[in-house]
Amino acid sequence: MTDRNLSGFLHREVLERFCRYVRINTASCEKSTSSPSTPAQLELARLLKAELQELGLTAVTLDEFGYVYATLPASPGITSEPLSLLAHLDTSPAESGENVQPVLHEKYQGGLISFADDPNLILSPEDSPELLFFKGETIITASGTTLLGADNKAGIAEIMAVLSAFVRFRDLMHPELRICFTPDEEVGRGTGHIDVRRLGTSGYTVDGGMIGEIDVECFHALQVEVEFSGINIHPGYAKNRMINAGQVAARFAAALPRFETPENTEGREGFYHLTGIEGNECRAILKYILRDFDDNANRKRVEFLEQLKETFAQRDPGLKIELSVTEQYRNMAEVLNLHPDLIALAEQAMILAGVVPVRKAVRGGTDGARLCFMGLPTPNLFTGGMLFHSRKEWIAIPAMQKACEVLIKLCALYAGKYPEPIKR
Ligand SMILES: [Zn+2]
Repeated sequence: MTDRNLSGFLHREVLERFCRYVRINTASCEKSTSSPSTPAQLELARLLKAELQELGLTAVTLDEFGYVYATLPASPGITSEPLSLLAHLDTSPAESGENVQPVLHEKYQGGLISFADDPNLILSPEDSPELLFFKGETIITASGTTLLGADNKAGIAEIMAVLSAFVRFRDLMHPELRICFTPDEEVGRGTGHIDVRRLGTSGYTVDGGMIGEIDVECFHALQVEVEFSGINIHPGYAKNRMINAGQVAARFAAALPRFETPENTEGREGFYHLTGIEGNECRAILKYILRDFDDNANRKRVEFLEQLKETFAQRDPGLKIELSVTEQYRNMAEVLNLHPDLIALAEQAMILAGVVPVRKAVRGGTDGARLCFMGLPTPNLFTGGMLFHSRKEWIAIPAMQKACEVLIKLCALYAGKYPEPIKR
């Protein structure tokens, strides 16, 4: 096998698979309580199951919840621990995923990209300066009325292309690979029914954006509800007697730090985010999410809310305030810091593939973060896709090809670097 053969093979495989997968509408649905949340995700799951079987993988399973599992046995002589590669089947419900038409813009010249099905929609380097890295290359977008679904079908296509390369080119060394495609990541339930016993001892999700990105941190996330119970009396006779829960809630909300909000923060800054407000004289509720990379900073925010609660309760005897706090997810750095080898390997693999690695802290949560706390340390690697969840979503073919090459190098390093099982 020559590098040129492999590179041409990956190019064809990843492109063909990507275009096939994005045509299947797999938008998930927040309101649905079933798993998967939409039956169309099963259509892609079934297709992948058949393709994995065709490639000759073992233990290929599509379970009742819509999770696809498969195993590729290790190359001969490789004894390292199994490694998991994961991606999600669903696309964001934020934009339509109905009848996605992938459009190839060949030899991109660095200007504006227009969309056949919506003349008012334009993708420009102003939206995405990264476009300029790919002058002369092929850019893929949707046709204007839908998202593209590179999030996360690029990840699926890349994993599938790599599996297919391992089957075809037997001299590419790899550990035992445990593959898992999950439903409903976009509605926060991607790991709800996952069977971690089927996975390896470490893994990578392939669900990031820009080429070179490796996500090693995410937010620590709390949800807070503040409930106010007031005293209601006819407004004509209310003097010194009424306590209007709605009024108090509004003053409470206004007492929070004005600039510690999502619209005023970036980088590593945390925030309070008001996600719901409702009420009347009797009862009012404020809903917040608190986000920070540092869990202590979030705890200080909770302390501040508790102090406010005391102050407000003293001001209006008879007023009742209840504050409840739920932890939603934790910063995966807590776990990944104990496994620096996983991050170092991914970075080495990128350098070997000619990609500059960039560690990133995600201002959100990831399935990988949840997996980290389920016993499977899982950093997140780039797919090459950009402007996720929008009709301007795009991906460059060379970025997908690089993602495949990184995965191949990563598998070789994982297989070679750890002849002994990784200590956990
Ligand atoms: Zn995603």
